[in-house]
Amino acid sequence: MSFKNLGLCDQLLRAIKEQGYDEPTPVQKEAIPVILNKRDILAGAQTGTGKTAGFTLPMLQLLHDHKPTKGKHHVRALILTPTRELASQVQESVEMYGKFLPFKSTVIFGGVKINPQIAALRKGMDIVVATPGRLLDHVSQKTIDLSKVDFLILDEADRMLDMGFINDIKKVLAVLPKQRQNLLFSATFSNEIKKLTDSLLNSPVLIEVARRNQSSEQIKQVVHPVDKTRKRELLTFLIKKDNWKQVLVFTRTKHGANRLAGQLEKDGITSAAIHGNKSQNARTKALADFKSGQVRVLVATDIAARGIDIDQLPHVVNYELPNVSEDYVHRIGRTGRAGNNGEAMSLVCVDENEFLANIEKLIKKDIHKSVIKGFAPDPSIKAEPINMGGGNRAKGGGGRGNSRNRNSNRNNNSRGANSSRGRR
Ligand code: AMP
Repeated sequence: MSFKNLGLCDQLLRAIKEQGYDEPTPVQKEAIPVILNKRDILAGAQTGTGKTAGFTLPMLQLLHDHKPTKGKHHVRALILTPTRELASQVQESVEMYGKFLPFKSTVIFGGVKINPQIAALRKGMDIVVATPGRLLDHVSQKTIDLSKVDFLILDEADRMLDMGFINDIKKVLAVLPKQRQNLLFSATFSNEIKKLTDSLLNSPVLIEVARRNQSSEQIKQVVHPVDKTRKRELLTFLIKKDNWKQVLVFTRTKHGANRLAGQLEKDGITSAAIHGNKSQNARTKALADFKSGQVRVLVATDIAARGIDIDQLPHVVNYELPNVSEDYVHRIGRTGRAGNNGEAMSLVCVDENEFLANIEKLIKKDIHKSVIKGFAPDPSIKAEPINMGGGNRAKGGGGRGNSRNRNSNRNNNSRGANSSRGRR
């Protein structure tokens, strides 16, 4: 099946051709016709499956087919995402796929000045991509009118709920017109997601493409057992040994990310850290430097890495395993994307064996273990409880009316900062 058969206009086909896509991905094949049929959808698709084009292309097609009836340039499509990075990247996709169409789009998120956003909105936008908190600021300041929205898209809805955005989402829903098309994308389907979809979606068509954790053949996964105190040495060794040029490294905490980036720099490996405590500008710069190859290693916390979209990212390293198993799947999904091969390795110390067991249970397979010569763990070292990042721990995950319940032991360092009012 080609994009042509999906019923997309020439302007979109041209943009797709420019991207070099030969054929639609599975989620695109399934979602595009259903969306063009004006149905609501509930799609289980993770980053890396091509989901962004899966909703952006038919959305642009429908906006193109149906000229605005309710006056010129009002917001006709609203796309909500959990993080700023994802919002920016989705808007870039909207611009990219829509480059031969006349629609205007903008992105709205917190952590940056509101006035330029107000100025952009004043010009009249057809498509707005936003994180919920800052969007509500605009709603309450009446700098955005959402009363004529035809499309609502929730991207990574599970993450939005994880981050405690449920009340914000409800507030946004309250200012949208009742008649609209709703598209909801989520990597996982918890009871909370089901509750949300029941109230939000109108007889949705279910679309489920193979999840990364079941279809990760393209990602080579390996565990390197190592003592905690030697992880950094091992990481430096691995990077230098094979001369890795671009590697995304995950830590559990913001502090850990900063410290590791600093240490790698000392080892002569250009590195940057990206997490919720960094200003938006610093995060954007770190990501740009990483993408352009100026920085070899990007050290990230889970939430900061959401939506990072780098084509052909060859290496992902779990410097520390996540304590929430699903995050492992999200992390390794950064590599091996859209048909490319990738490698995900985890440096695992004895303290993390329980996390590893949980991850293997989730992905339903044992990950190959390979001890690197010279880095064999000392068998006399016994497991100790993991320090989840100190002071922030007592706060509970998510700053905005937290609704998370998956794992009481979860590190909330990154999530708390990202979703707290002051940092929107
Ligand atoms: P996403 O799941 O939306 O984050 O997309 C993952 C990556 O797949 C992005 O880098 C897209 O540019 C790429 N992509 C999307 N659709 C296709 C396609 N049909 N063929 C090849 N690559 C694609």
